[in-house]
Amino acid sequence: MQFPRKIAIFGSTGSIGRQALEVIAAHPELFEVTVLTAWKNAELLIEQALQYRPRVVVIGDEGQYPVVKEALQHTGICVLAGLQALEEAAAGEYDVHLAAIVGFAGLKPTLSAIRQGKTIALANKETLVVAGEWVMKEAQAHQAQIIPVDSEHSAIFQCLAGEQHNPIEKIILTASGGPFLGKKTNFLVNVKKDHALQHPNWRMGEKITIDSSSLMNKGLEMIEARWLFNLHPDQIEVIIHPQSVVHSLIQFTDGSIKAQMGLPDMKLPIQYALSYPQRLTNDFPRFSFKQYPYLSFEPPDTKTFRNLAIAMEVLRKAGNAPCAMNAANEEAVWAFLQNKIGFLEMSDVIEHALQKVDFILHPSLSDYEETDQLARHHARVLIEKIRHSI
Ligand code: NAD
Ligand code: MG
Repeated sequence: MQFPRKIAIFGSTGSIGRQALEVIAAHPELFEVTVLTAWKNAELLIEQALQYRPRVVVIGDEGQYPVVKEALQHTGICVLAGLQALEEAAAGEYDVHLAAIVGFAGLKPTLSAIRQGKTIALANKETLVVAGEWVMKEAQAHQAQIIPVDSEHSAIFQCLAGEQHNPIEKIILTASGGPFLGKKTNFLVNVKKDHALQHPNWRMGEKITIDSSSLMNKGLEMIEARWLFNLHPDQIEVIIHPQSVVHSLIQFTDGSIKAQMGLPDMKLPIQYALSYPQRLTNDFPRFSFKQYPYLSFEPPDTKTFRNLAIAMEVLRKAGNAPCAMNAANEEAVWAFLQNKIGFLEMSDVIEHALQKVDFILHPSLSDYEETDQLARHHARVLIEKIRHSI
């Protein structure tokens, strides 16, 4: 793909979206912003639109449409609203779709882009967790390349450069361990959201920050990796690496291991996904061994962090189980963020929903939607029960 590239940012007001705009602003000769979308944050969306002058902006929440429309009148920017508009804009004219919406909501716009054969820079891991098999098949059918943005998957992807014909023995995903590394259940039972939102190494959106504190994020990433790199569950390992400078590792069938390293900064994997296969010069801070004389690695504690154990089981089970787990987890995380349930009860909610939803080995797209709805329903029922018992 040639430069300049037209970039559509779905979820431009989020942590990934904002960092992507910084990357783009540093290379105005290489990138052009064509689409910007947000859910509710009209103010920031308007500010971004006035600065980057896309062709289209979409505000998901239709109630905010008049505000955005008025602010952008006389600019020539097309303003749309609603979920259908997100899908339509995803099918429009541009080169790279940065999928930076959080949660299940990212699935449909991403699928719409895939069906147009767009290149997908994928941050929204939930898309592959929910319907990975389906999404990868569609991508193949429409020759849409998927380039990971998630730092671990970007690391594996970077290690695979030049290795197309060499089989992978296994991959090792690194995890920081989050703010509660080393803690046990007696501590976690009293944890509140303010503490869980204090990630030691990364500044991210609230949902992924809570997922990182419960290790669900790593479970989601195992499932994401399974589909991205076409691996068997046995080929995916997780290791806790609190410094977050080895972003992940890949072992080939000759036993050789490659790792990709760098400071924890999402701008690098974002930039790599937007400029792939080219590497662009930048002035991001550089890693130095002098500042990191000691790198450590230890196995994850899946007994205490039950979410990771649940995700590992679901990874093996496949079918609609990851979709159900993802939906229940989204509900559990929002409930925890609203102080409706405790930290450890997030796992109870997920297990409960998984038990309630019927297993389907080969789900259709509508099965995924039904599974998502049903799992959310069962999750909410338990959340309400817990809330009233507190
Ligand atoms: P965020 O919460 O900061 O931003 C989410 C974006 O999605 C916002 O622009 C919001 O307006 C939009 N959005 C939210 N709900 C929506 C809905 N229902 N419909 C349409 N748009 C909606 O999230 P983030 O941290 O930027 O993460 C985005 C995705 O990238 C997540 O899937 C996350 O797991 C993944 N990711 C993030 C990071 C990171 O460092 N932040 C790292 C790796 C992967
Ligand atoms: Mg990650």
